[in-house]
Amino acid sequence: MDNICCGIIDLASKVCNITSGLLGGKRLKFPREPRPRTLMRLNVLRELQQPLGATSTYDVAESVLRLADVRLEGLSGLLRLLRTDRGLLISLAGSALMREECARCLKEVKCEVRIDFEEEYIPIIDPRTGARVRVSDLDVFRIGPDFVMDLAEGLRQYVLMAEPAKPLCDSACAGLCPTCGADLNAGPCGCPPLNDERWRTLAGLKNDREGS
Ligand SMILES: [Zn+2]
Ligand SMILES: [Zn+2]
Repeated sequence: MDNICCGIIDLASKVCNITSGLLGGKRLKFPREPRPRTLMRLNVLRELQQPLGATSTYDVAESVLRLADVRLEGLSGLLRLLRTDRGLLISLAGSALMREECARCLKEVKCEVRIDFEEEYIPIIDPRTGARVRVSDLDVFRIGPDFVMDLAEGLRQYVLMAEPAKPLCDSACAGLCPTCGADLNAGPCGCPPLNDERWRTLAGLKNDREGS
């Protein structure tokens, strides 16, 4: 069975294999909490209490990560949290594999997706004053009143944009026969070549131009 991420980046229990990175070996301890069901959740109360410009960096390694309809495998990278005046600037740089279908032969292929995700997350509640933080920008990602930041949706949106538009099993993939559906990578299927009226018209136009 796949080793599926349980969903929370709980630095205290190291559930998601996150180890402290560039903090000189210092490990941040976050209060333990009941394990939520959604993915990539991180309690950032301590991070929000840091002064402006403070950063924390963590290594991320996930064998399988599910983000709703998106499934990443072998995710590895560096997660960086920077305290901004409004909240936290999150950057995740790394790579992962996604299962795709070859655009020509429909065979399953694993594509490497480079991840260079960066978003600002703004808390709903100011951790120092307890006051509600209002933002005019409705598109911004928010950190819940429990100070748990959920990266799943932001990362999902990013990956959907970053995934290859036309994944191919091989740049020379011969695809499927449009008539019988046979995989032409295995050899010719015996169907006669398509005699398409549109191609003949185009070829005729080309000949006319060359002839004039
Ligand atoms: Zn193919
Ligand atoms: Zn055929």
